[in-house]
Amino acid sequence: MKEPQFRIPFNKPFIVGKELYYMAEAVMNNRHLAGNGPFTKLCEKWLEQITGCSRALLTHSCTAALEMVAILCDLKPGDEVIMPSFTFVSTANAFALRGAVPVFVDITSDSLNIDEKLIRSAITPRTKGIVVVHYAGTACAMDEIIDVAKEHHLWVAEDAAQAFLSTYKGRYLGTLGDFGCLSFHETKNIISGEGGALLLNSEHFLEKAEIIREKGTNRGAFFRGDVDKYTWVSTGSSFLPGELIAAFLYAQLEHAEKIGEARRNLIGKYTELLSPLADRGWFAMPFFGEHGVCNGHMFYIITRSLHERTNLISYLANNGISAVFHYIPLHSSPAGRKLGRTAGSMRVTEELSDRVLRLPMYYEMTFEEVETVARALERFYLGGNKPV
Ligand SMILES: *Cc1c(COP(=O)(O)O)cnc(C)c1O
Repeated sequence: MKEPQFRIPFNKPFIVGKELYYMAEAVMNNRHLAGNGPFTKLCEKWLEQITGCSRALLTHSCTAALEMVAILCDLKPGDEVIMPSFTFVSTANAFALRGAVPVFVDITSDSLNIDEKLIRSAITPRTKGIVVVHYAGTACAMDEIIDVAKEHHLWVAEDAAQAFLSTYKGRYLGTLGDFGCLSFHETKNIISGEGGALLLNSEHFLEKAEIIREKGTNRGAFFRGDVDKYTWVSTGSSFLPGELIAAFLYAQLEHAEKIGEARRNLIGKYTELLSPLADRGWFAMPFFGEHGVCNGHMFYIITRSLHERTNLISYLANNGISAVFHYIPLHSSPAGRKLGRTAGSMRVTEELSDRVLRLPMYYEMTFEEVETVARALERFYLGGNKPV
């Protein structure tokens, strides 16, 4: 099937600065294309200085960072990890790969994040950790979640794939739990095609994490001169990105502030144009939290029904606009049913996953394009959805 051409795509990868120049520098000057070279180190230093995490390790994806967490935590078959069901598959898959059981908990209807009040009753003697997902860059209730985790001696990992540079009470998301997992996939705010990072928020896991990322070897310690031979010391895998990816990423990081501001401005424009339509009861507006700054990752609306969302998606597509929905709740997916289980009712997840609709959002999007989308929505609700 040929992909339809959209006048306004859902996402558009972009460059903002020296991406191509730095890639040329990696090839021509540094002569270093494998992982862990000069650009990887620059990116990691940038992440450490800006976010205040103890250590940042670049990975080839957020999925890889989540898989590293699962290895770091020594999960055994049958161990349980609490998480939302309303998330991308990698949040659960990384832990299921180690034989652990994802235990799905419902979300709150405002933030669409895990409902912190339901976590305690999902804990069993087999529970080892909690993975929170900051949906749309909106922070989970981290104080409450970290309190529960401390009480039960659980680790906390933040899937901050959508939340890079969002804050919660003045601190960056990804630095509040034991681990933070970031994504630089081309659909996220800061991009390198595929890409990610693991933020470690205490020194405790540092040595082990380096070994896991280097295929289970002590190569890092060897290059620092800490050991005199380099060998297989534990299980691990290949989680490093190549230098071309890191070079591209570093140029984006240099403009992180500008990218965030542009996206927040687009959200402001959407909010200005769509609030009057939401006031008429046609759909609900997104919620971006009240404990910090949101990174402007996503703009979504909540339609009144699945049927209306389906019609709206095709109406927008017929008008050259690509809007998308997600997620099929993991607890009702084929793999989720086999590998995980639910704790309590999934009412909000089931209700809202049918009604969330993401609107186009990309760095180079113009206010005129936002207006085009808003006008199409208005026409739809004024009768464009009637069968012809
Ligand atoms: C995008 C995303 C991921 C996966 O990121 P990759 O870098 O593509 O592996 C994981 N979790 C959430 C919540 C995401 O949005």
